Amino acid sequence: AAKESKNARHIFFSAPLNERVQTEMLVETLLRAALKTGQLELHYQPQICPADDRLIGLEALVRWPNEKRGYIPPGEFIPIAEKTGLILELGQYVLERACKQAAAWRQAGFDFGQVSVNVSPLQFRQPSFASTVRQMLSAYRLPAPMLCLELTENVFVDTGEQMVLDILSELQNIGVQLSLDDFGSGYSSLSYLHRLPFQELKIDRAFLADADRDLQKEQLFQAIVGLGRSLGLRVIAEGAETAGEYALTAAHHCDGMQGFFCSPAVAAQDVRARIEAFHKSRPARSDRMEKKR
Ligand code: C2E
Ligand code: MG
Ligand code: MG
Ligand code: MG
Repeated sequence: AAKESKNARHIFFSAPLNERVQTEMLVETLLRAALKTGQLELHYQPQICPADDRLIGLEALVRWPNEKRGYIPPGEFIPIAEKTGLILELGQYVLERACKQAAAWRQAGFDFGQVSVNVSPLQFRQPSFASTVRQMLSAYRLPAPMLCLELTENVFVDTGEQMVLDILSELQNIGVQLSLDDFGSGYSSLSYLHRLPFQELKIDRAFLADADRDLQKEQLFQAIVGLGRSLGLRVIAEGAETAGEYALTAAHHCDGMQGFFCSPAVAAQDVRARIEAFHKSRPARSDRMEKKR
């Protein structure tokens, strides 16, 4: 037994795992401090209707500034926040900041459509989640349809179908928009997608990448757009990086798209300028001018 435990200890403390555990502990400590002192920022990525280049929404994406690295990408700390439960605090912070910003934009007469917030499975499952959403909306006097909650297929992984349905319908009753994010990238919920009260489907970037240069990819992309459409959902394509990919989202009548071609996520105060810059880069469009008048 002594030998076994010595072996186990040896395996547990073998360098890579040990390093990983230490990094995670460090990130957790630093993230906790960052949350406490309000260091986390939100950036907003425009969602554009490719038929007329119009702004239809803004997705809030969390940013963690770092002296040495500029910003630490969420992909490096969201999984740790999820593992440690810190995501609950982080999620609450993001939701509040996004509602506050949306209310300020509305006050300023900026027509941004909707603001979209990512919700992690743990946050979604919290019994108090729906009431928190309700409270935020009323605290900032934000009309419910101006808030869109993005969920990934991961919410279906550890949560029973009935529970998912119950939470979703509670949120639907509040009147917020519900979006299924990264569609096609994970666990497939195709079998009961038609029973879930989503209004929006976001097609994972993997399906759009190079689809303008590869017929098979284009056909797959088109099929997924068609699937969303046939379910009556607003279809948003993620990750158009080139003019060709952008044109493809228009050709297949996506309701919206977001991607570096139009704009990356930027600080709230830079959003309007970025959209103007995008419009200036586009051929003049009578339909867009119409909206402005
Ligand atoms: P997501 O919700 O699917 O967000 C879209 C991600 O794609 C963002 O990465 C965005 O910057 C990136 N992106 C947008 N356009 C393009 C493009 O044209 N090309 C490429 N290559 N990428 C593009 P980001 O900000 O690094 O966020 C990554 C993920 O982290 C998000 O994926 C989301 O799952 C998660 N995340 C970010 N903020 C939050 C948050 O506040 N709460 C939660 N729970 N998750 C968040
Ligand atoms: Mg998202
Ligand atoms: Mg996504
Ligand atoms: Mg994603």
